[in-house]
Amino acid sequence: MAAAMREATVAGAVAATDGAAGPLARLAPSALVAWIALLACGCTGPRAEAPVDPRPTTEWHRVPIVDRCLGRNVLVLNHADPSLELATVAAQLQQQYDWLAEWYGFAPRFVIVHVGAGYPFGFALKSGPDPEMFLQVDGIFDTANNYAHEMAHCFTYELGAALPHWFNESLSDMAWLESEIELWKRRGADAWLPTLDRVDWRSYELLQLRLAHGPGYFPKVLRALWRRRDECRATFDGSRKLDVQNELLVAALSEAAGGDVLPFLRTLGFDPRTRERQRGY
Ligand SMILES: [Zn+2]
Repeated sequence: MAAAMREATVAGAVAATDGAAGPLARLAPSALVAWIALLACGCTGPRAEAPVDPRPTTEWHRVPIVDRCLGRNVLVLNHADPSLELATVAAQLQQQYDWLAEWYGFAPRFVIVHVGAGYPFGFALKSGPDPEMFLQVDGIFDTANNYAHEMAHCFTYELGAALPHWFNESLSDMAWLESEIELWKRRGADAWLPTLDRVDWRSYELLQLRLAHGPGYFPKVLRALWRRRDECRATFDGSRKLDVQNELLVAALSEAAGGDVLPFLRTLGFDPRTRERQRGY
C-alpha cells in the first residue's frame, strides 16, 4: 500500500549488508551473555548498535513518541498508546524479521517500526540508513496486520530505492502469503492458494509463478537478484527506463524458474515495456 509515500522516498544510497547476520555475529562471548541478559529484561539492546531516530520526513513522524522498544533488529516507536506492552510487539516483529531474513537471503541491519493511531493504512519508506514501516495501532498485536507485507518492503530496499510498483507490491504479497503459511501457520497452502488464484487478484502473475514452481521459488528469485545487487541498485534508482527495469526482474524470475518466463507472462497480459503498476492500482 501507500505507493505515493514510498515513491516520495528520497532516492539515496541503500546501506549494504553482508546478509542476515545482525549484532549477534559481531559480539564477543562475554558481551553476548550481557546482551542476552539485557534482552531478557525487555526493551533494551546493545546501545552501540541502536539506530538513530529517523528524520521526520512525514507528518506521522511528528506525532510524539510515547514509548520505544529496541529488539535485536527492530526498533519499535510507539506514537499511539503508552499502555501498550511494546516488548510483545517487538518480539513478534523480530520473529517476522528473522523469517524474512531467511526467505530473502539478505536483510537490512535494522527495521524501524512506527506504531500510530492515524495511519490510513500500513506503509513503508526509506529516507535514511534504516528502512521504516508504519503499522496501525488497532490490531497491532495481530501479526496478520501488515507485519510481513510492510517489512518485506523494508527488505526490498536493499535491492534499490525504487523497484517497479507491480513487482515491489506483489513480492510483498508473496512474503505475506508464505508467512501466513510457513511462519505463522494460519493457513494451509493446498486449501488457501486456490482461493487467491483468480485473474482479478492484484498479485496474479507472481502467484502463477509460485504455483508453478513451489514455495522455494521466490527465495531463488531473491538470491538471483542479490547476486546482481550492484546492477539492481543502479537499475532501480528511479532514473532508468521501465523496460530495462522489467527486463532485469524477468531475468531473475526466469533464472529461478530454469527457463524464460516472459512468454508465459505475456499470455497473462504482461508487457515489460508498459507494466509499471500493480493490477488494480
Ligand atoms: Zn505495499
